[in-house]
Amino acid sequence: MAGPLVLYAGDAAEWPVYRAALNDALEARGVRARLVNRTEAPEKVDYIVYAPSSGLSDFTPFTGLKAVLSLWAGVEKIQNNPTLQVPLARMVDPGMSAGMAEYVLGHVMRHHLGMDADILNRTGPWRNRPAPPLAKDRPVGILGLGALGSAAAERLVAQGFPISGWARTQKDLPGIACHSGADGLQDVLSRAQILVLLLPLTGETENILNAETLAMLPRGAVVINPGRGPLIDDEALLDALDSGQLSHATLDVFRTEPLPDDHPFWAHPRVTVTPHIAPETRPQTAAETIAENIRRGEAGEPFLHLVDRQRGY
Ligand code: NAP
Repeated sequence: MAGPLVLYAGDAAEWPVYRAALNDALEARGVRARLVNRTEAPEKVDYIVYAPSSGLSDFTPFTGLKAVLSLWAGVEKIQNNPTLQVPLARMVDPGMSAGMAEYVLGHVMRHHLGMDADILNRTGPWRNRPAPPLAKDRPVGILGLGALGSAAAERLVAQGFPISGWARTQKDLPGIACHSGADGLQDVLSRAQILVLLLPLTGETENILNAETLAMLPRGAVVINPGRGPLIDDEALLDALDSGQLSHATLDVFRTEPLPDDHPFWAHPRVTVTPHIAPETRPQTAAETIAENIRRGEAGEPFLHLVDRQRGY
């Protein structure tokens, strides 16, 4: 009997890599699937491996679809698509979590050590300045303690930073002071000399960093946003940078991507722009997640990492 038909609707350039990685991961699970990157018979497709860059937005022709398996962790572009009537699983990829932890660690260390002072200022005269505090005396806050936020938090804890984290539900994570609710947000913000945003973009989280919440941070705090651009009110961020309430913002994600050439973030001396590269989905490890969900779907077992469409993530 023919196995399930899996349509790859991701980045076209990555199809050969994903085809090989998915074939291996499916075979390792004993699933004999047929993998294609186009089809004339959408009604025969069982699973779609999906990224928004494919341009696919109408799921109506896929009448036999069992699930859509996202290659992206963030699903705000697809989760409220009315033509999508089957389970949607987001990407949880150990490779992506490791990449995010490294991005966060690198940018936290840059600001913690004040590296710019030496890297950007390579001429004399010699200027004395105080040495930075030890990591143990540099409180870091993380908004979002999911797959990526908890991986970043764990990496920073290992370096000795005191970490406070915030999530929708109360968490209990080793070495991390976990908070939830409005009071919890205030507790985290009031302590965070460096704040990392790793929330999904939902109706509840949009503009969560605004004039009011930015004012809760200690003066001179740094914001690092590898989450989603609209988590931050851009105008309020620029005001906070100009007033000295923030000393720097390192931003990987933006309301409009690519960030337009004339956007004020480019020219701002205290904004660092990275081009949405905090982590990538890594095909080898992501293929394991996708293949496991196809195996589960075929075995009638519950899918992993399902998106709650009401909650929005
Ligand atoms: P996740 O596992 O779903 O975790 C989301 C976290 O946010 C959870 O801890 C959740 O709380 C918390 N949260 C959600 N809504 C909240 C609210 N209203 N108030 C407080 N906390 C809330 O997601 P993830 O895999 O860690 O990914 C996080 C985000 O990173 C993605 O959605 C995506 O936007 C972004 N991302 C960016 C890149 C990049 O290249 N820059 C790459 C991948 C992902 P609970 O634990 O209580 O549910």
